[in-house]
Amino acid sequence: GQTCSAPGDSCVERTFIALKPDAIQRGLVGDIINRFERKGFHLLGLKFVQPSRQLVEKHYEEHLGRPFYEGLVNYMTSGPVLASVWEGKNIISSSRSLLGATDPSKAAPGTIRGDLATQVGRNLVHASDSPANAEREIGLWFQPEEVQSWSRALKKWINEEN
Ligand code: GDP
Ligand code: MG
Repeated sequence: GQTCSAPGDSCVERTFIALKPDAIQRGLVGDIINRFERKGFHLLGLKFVQPSRQLVEKHYEEHLGRPFYEGLVNYMTSGPVLASVWEGKNIISSSRSLLGATDPSKAAPGTIRGDLATQVGRNLVHASDSPANAEREIGLWFQPEEVQSWSRALKKWINEEN
């Protein structure tokens, strides 16, 4: 797709979405995945994984040294995670809007975190925050052959230009 040069530009991006261990434990997998599907995002990869400490430390390396870092790594390794790759127009900012604010107590109603969570340390879901981080995170969590390339019959009803 095109690159996102100016804010508001329409472009096709890929992103990495992870349902964190609390989403799995609480039985919210269907609810959360449903929101991405209904939005019209295109699913490219999906797998259920018990992440190693090393993987989570790499994933969250930007937060190394923060007071919540140790708790965050413990949380993310506390059980299986549903890792996924999605594609769509402006999906990086759009998926983060669907998630809502990092702190669920400040997240708007209608968002995943606003509807379903109450605390920042149990905020259910991760989504990449930039194209560079999306590619980095997809590479950490997925082998290339685990990310599918397929065409949806519905695409002309979701994308004006296909
Ligand atoms: P995100 O991109 O919205 O997920 O937020 P960040 O990249 O800023 O933080 C990564 C994750 O660390 C968040 O999703 C939370 O799970 C956790 N986190 C961030 N800030 C805090 C905090 O102040 N306290 C706790 N306990 N966890 C935090
Ligand atoms: Mg982040």
